Amino acid sequence: MPNPCLNCGACCAFFRASFYWAEADDATPGGVPIELTEQVNDLHRAMRGTNQVAPRCVALQGVVGVSVHCSIYEQRSSTCSDFAPSWFEGVHNERCDQARVAHGMAPLTPEIWDAPEEMPRVA
Ligand code: SF4
Ligand code: SF4
Repeated sequence: MPNPCLNCGACCAFFRASFYWAEADDATPGGVPIELTEQVNDLHRAMRGTNQVAPRCVALQGVVGVSVHCSIYEQRSSTCSDFAPSWFEGVHNERCDQARVAHGMAPLTPEIWDAPEEMPRVA
């Protein structure tokens, strides 16, 4: 079945990927590599590259809209792992649509999930 995230990556190059600071690996062994993050306020860090105009996460590998993967998939933050592609399990995600459109791709439609085997992710 198609995995739309592996040919997309738009959300990783559109939003600020921020998360509670303690998800980084200085506080949580196996967590988000701190060297790939920056502090954004007292409580939150963000993936480097996403806290800027024209964001692109430093952990995103590949070409958006063609072929991508997350180089820290197992260590990504809850912000990333909780971000579901639109219509997965019937739930619309307008932010997925927004990111895809911003990168010149059509929003996902419910039909793409007709035969899902597992949660597809960018990463
Ligand atoms: S899923 Fe990976 S590449 Fe995408 S924003 Fe999160 S850490 Fe970065
Ligand atoms: S969640 Fe949506 S925007 Fe992000 S990679 Fe998947 S399809 Fe693209």
